[in-house]
Amino acid sequence: WKYTWYVAKPVMNALKEGWFSELNELWPGISLSLEVDKILHSEKSEFQDILVLQTKSHGRALILDGIIQCTESDEFAYQEMISFLPLCSHPSPKKVLIVGGGDGGVAREVAKHPDVENIVQVEIDSQVLDVSKKYLPFMGKGLTNAKLNLHVGDGFRFMKQHQNEFDVIITDSSDPVGPAVSLFQVSYFELMRNALKPGGIICSQAGTIWANMDIVIDTYKHCQNTFKKAAYGCAAVPTYPTGQIGFVLGSLSQETNFKEPLRILSENELDAFNLRYYSPEVHRAAFVLPRFAQKALEQH
Ligand code: SAM
Repeated sequence: WKYTWYVAKPVMNALKEGWFSELNELWPGISLSLEVDKILHSEKSEFQDILVLQTKSHGRALILDGIIQCTESDEFAYQEMISFLPLCSHPSPKKVLIVGGGDGGVAREVAKHPDVENIVQVEIDSQVLDVSKKYLPFMGKGLTNAKLNLHVGDGFRFMKQHQNEFDVIITDSSDPVGPAVSLFQVSYFELMRNALKPGGIICSQAGTIWANMDIVIDTYKHCQNTFKKAAYGCAAVPTYPTGQIGFVLGSLSQETNFKEPLRILSENELDAFNLRYYSPEVHRAAFVLPRFAQKALEQH
């Protein structure tokens, strides 16, 4: 598998003179740094290095294998978009599966959607769940939502055991390093297709067009080859590499038009759900890509 050569740098090398730097071969020659106030937690779990920082200017930050997963200042942008892009593209998203998402931010957002009755989540690393509940309660609170059934296990294996069950599957995985590599393979997209009910929709974290066009194209291709409809949408998240992150979306229904939300949330609903990034206008705009990215996706 071609992404296995991407090796996370040891976390201690990334902490120097009061700054954490996100050094990784996934984005060679460039790295984001956060000024650190305090190391709140550091451990090596069975699956990865887990680090929680109190930063000087961006609140708390969760870092896995040296890669920033979320910071308190901007996590809402990612969590809202990976959740509401697929949810608002589905006519009736009652049962939702979240794969990964150990910080709890996606569960927090999915639970807000009025149609969602039942959320199942499978996260591989129980330590991430515990750490988030303890140190990152603004996201960790999503893990105790009454609609949520939480499992600890590998999302790839879990998917093999479920058929015709979910309206929406959201894969909130870490980057294709370590335990998340399998979640970027075409076989994973085929398993998701089988786990969906007719008309079901998937949304997966898919990398940035600036540093990881190979990952974006591969993930988009897997989606296009597996689903009747596919699209790539983006969001701006300042503390992700290059400040941009994308999602691939796939639908079993020919009728789906990802560019036009089916469920238009009103201004009152957006306020009531405390949505600070997502809106119907942002939903439409997410799929308008710069020319080089549009061409790269069309030509593959
Ligand atoms: N928003 C984040 C990002 O893109 O930077 C992702 C956040 S979330 C913390 C990612 C989670 O995926 C991690 O907690 C990790 O343990 C989990 N994960 C990785 N591989 C997995 C797998 N095969 N099955 C289930 N969960 C997995």
